[in-house]
Amino acid sequence: MALSSAHLLTLTIESDEWRRTAACRDTDPDLFFPVGTTGPAIEQIANAKAVCQQCESQTACLEFAIATNQDSGIWGGTSEEERRQLRKKFNNRGRRTA
Ligand code: SF4
Repeated sequence: MALSSAHLLTLTIESDEWRRTAACRDTDPDLFFPVGTTGPAIEQIANAKAVCQQCESQTACLEFAIATNQDSGIWGGTSEEERRQLRKKFNNRGRRTA
């Protein structure tokens, strides 16, 4: 999934229309905030990501999570570590084009 700087720059906390179509609206929020990354958390992360794969708000959710530095939980089908990597790539790309 590609993140565009234009999207991230225009994204604000107020623009949360994507939440209306969030597939996780009616699921247990705990599913999206596993404790750790091993043991039972592995299945929990996979189950949360499966919900995200069916969500029409996935891209907007991920952009929001990156733009607002959501460090915990599953957002936009990504884990905490995956978002760290995305953020790092995005920041490195920004430095190269600046
Ligand atoms: S992408 Fe996942 S975490 Fe984000 S709104 Fe959709 S279901 Fe929820």
